[in-house]
Amino acid sequence: MQSAKLHFASALLAHGWQRDVTVTCAGNGMITAVAGGREGDAQHVPGIAIPAMPNIHSHAHQRFMLGLAERAGPGADSFWTWREAMYGFALKLSPEDLEAVAAQLYVEMLKAGFAAVGEFQYLHHQPDGTPYEDPPRMRLRCLAAAGRAGIATTILPTLYADGGFGGQPPQPGQRRFINGVDSFLKIFARLSEESKGHPLRRVGISPHSLRAVTPDLLREVVAPLPGETPIHIHLAEQVKEVEDCLAHSGLRPVELLLQEFDVSARWTAIHATHMTKAETQALAISGAAAGLCPTTEANLGDGIFPAVDFTKAGGAIAIGSDSHITVSPAEDLRMLEYSQRLQHRTRNALAAGPGQSTGRTLYEKALSGGARSLCQNMGAIAPGRRCDIAVLDAGNPLLAGREGDAALDTWIFSGGNALVKDVFVAGRHLVKDRRHIHEDEIARDFRAALRRLDT
Ligand code: ZN
Repeated sequence: MQSAKLHFASALLAHGWQRDVTVTCAGNGMITAVAGGREGDAQHVPGIAIPAMPNIHSHAHQRFMLGLAERAGPGADSFWTWREAMYGFALKLSPEDLEAVAAQLYVEMLKAGFAAVGEFQYLHHQPDGTPYEDPPRMRLRCLAAAGRAGIATTILPTLYADGGFGGQPPQPGQRRFINGVDSFLKIFARLSEESKGHPLRRVGISPHSLRAVTPDLLREVVAPLPGETPIHIHLAEQVKEVEDCLAHSGLRPVELLLQEFDVSARWTAIHATHMTKAETQALAISGAAAGLCPTTEANLGDGIFPAVDFTKAGGAIAIGSDSHITVSPAEDLRMLEYSQRLQHRTRNALAAGPGQSTGRTLYEKALSGGARSLCQNMGAIAPGRRCDIAVLDAGNPLLAGREGDAALDTWIFSGGNALVKDVFVAGRHLVKDRRHIHEDEIARDFRAALRRLDT
């Protein structure tokens, strides 16, 4: 972090677009002033400034299997056959490999316009299932990777206890994931200690799913936590998961969660794909965010989230890149909107109202929902928020003559990552003219890890 004064020809502020803006960032990385005009010592940054996006859902280790699960299997392929393949890859990763893979991934996130990541990390133990001497080791490697890349992080250690609903024994492929209440709370305490006072770090928890954690176990874990601790949980991603939950409890996963817990704004329901109309209303009203990962959900054949009904009911949404099949806020928001157009055979399905920009509506919803989901003080270029800013390349031919909502819509629907030119996190200029300041050394370590892992 460093103090800085940044001048932009155009910026998306909390109250809308403004031309000719100086943003003042204090030495602690927080914005202290946003004013019209260029102050004398301000650094002019060419381009269009927008708040950088929170990426609320990441399994960093899945980044290295991209492209290796796109070949048809002997039978019908599904989320469940993909999961078996993923377990095989997950068993290979050493702590050093995880750090190398995560650092590369976080550089790619920053270059795409993300400034923070929610790392939902469930690799705890050694490949044979024995805990490391230092049990939080894999999560500490993720934090080290985040430190190298400079991205803000909400680390969400995963509670994973069972192989299926009702406390079924874990499968052999899940042996690196499993913890009891005591060992899990020790990991949480250690990560909290490591993150105390750190301006870029927060700690939450991620009960993996109601398949992997019973409500009773989850209550035991949640009870001693500070009240603001973020809780992220996979929910209703697959039809089979809904059927299994119904068979076990008589309720669907979202119904079961809402019945068993006082679900509120500290909760993020990851996916929440398969909901009835009543569940959609109830989840929206609860205050929980829906953590949507549209390109991963498409890649895995999950289904379509009821975004039109959920947002109409006032539900908060946030986006994540999950398996990282795509790392791009623009592409995930585009996929979210397109899924609704295909479903409802309409256009501009998620725009706030007549005359409103679809890209702007989605972007601002994902900023506010994401910042709250990660408990990170970001998501707006405004005094009191952290200085997390992405800058779109106004010199790109696609943006010639475009500004305001038209520029944002062009980026989201047609531009993608190539239009992200600069990124600041806590005022630190990490991506300069499309290059991350440490990208060569981080890519070198990633390549070495990939070669080891692919053999
Ligand atoms: Zn996930």
